[in-house]
Amino acid sequence: MMGLELNEIISKIREKTQLSEEEVRLQITKKRDKLSGLVSEEGAAHILANELGVDVMESIRKQGLKINKLKPGMRVGVLAKVVKLYEVRSFKRGDQDAKVGSFLVGDDSGLVRIVMWDENHVAKMESGEIKEGTIVKVENGAVRENNGYTEMHLGSYSNIETNPEGVDEINVIEKGNMAAGTGELKITKLSDASIGDNVSVYGTIVQLYDPRFYEGCSECGKKVVEGKCPNHAEGTPKKIPILNFFLDDGHEGIRATAFREQASKVLGIEDSVLESFADNPEGFEEVKQQVLGTQKVFSGRINSNEMYKQKEFMVSNVPEVDTSEILAKFIN
Ligand SMILES: [Zn+2]
Repeated sequence: MMGLELNEIISKIREKTQLSEEEVRLQITKKRDKLSGLVSEEGAAHILANELGVDVMESIRKQGLKINKLKPGMRVGVLAKVVKLYEVRSFKRGDQDAKVGSFLVGDDSGLVRIVMWDENHVAKMESGEIKEGTIVKVENGAVRENNGYTEMHLGSYSNIETNPEGVDEINVIEKGNMAAGTGELKITKLSDASIGDNVSVYGTIVQLYDPRFYEGCSECGKKVVEGKCPNHAEGTPKKIPILNFFLDDGHEGIRATAFREQASKVLGIEDSVLESFADNPEGFEEVKQQVLGTQKVFSGRINSNEMYKQKEFMVSNVPEVDTSEILAKFIN
């Protein structure tokens, strides 16, 4: 709930109290029983830590959290790489001139915009100390929500260190899965999507057609002509799947198409399993029953289908996201 796993909370409690793991777990169980099981184990562990005077959040304020665990209201740190600098802007604070600078950072879990209000921090951006590719260690940033996006705001209470010792590289999540300039995937309602838009949609597979196959190049998937790819002499022809399905996001329905490995991802099966249905179409029935009704995020482009005179969704990615978080956002 606060971004810490149960085991991490237990070890923090043990560090500060010398209690054995069994004792801590027993006390957590007792706490839960007392609250009639209304709190999770993590929740009970947090309550216990508070009672014992153990500040379990201290380390994540300093060492930081994965970006996808940031929640508005937290006062935490992150360790991430700068992927994009925005402008430093001047504004009036009372009758004083003030500056605000911001940049986008990423780690292997997500992207988040960092907004700096302290002139000492902004100076690091102006001097070039903070630039694209710089690894930054932020301590004590305030996580806020702005227009539905998560941001981390830094004030004089925060600390930002560039290229911290002992950290050589930070892997950054692929931006193709994220809405540009934001810390998270932006979900678009199908009813708001126009032809030509690249969008991510969260929807239910309400209809699924048997996959079709064509002879395509093993390198690029292009249809082969007389057994050869026009672009890849070394490519061998293989069965390339095309999957059509109908997606409904609660606002609108749309016909969707996925090729190759995207088709496997839509179905949640291995490429080789999908390819086996080329020779064994009956085998698909079982997969179909499992997949109908599943909900996922689909990213791709809204095209116009001339033949059907309607919009069609060309799926280019099925990003793995924690859909419970998306659901929570729809509910709130
Ligand atoms: Zn090819």
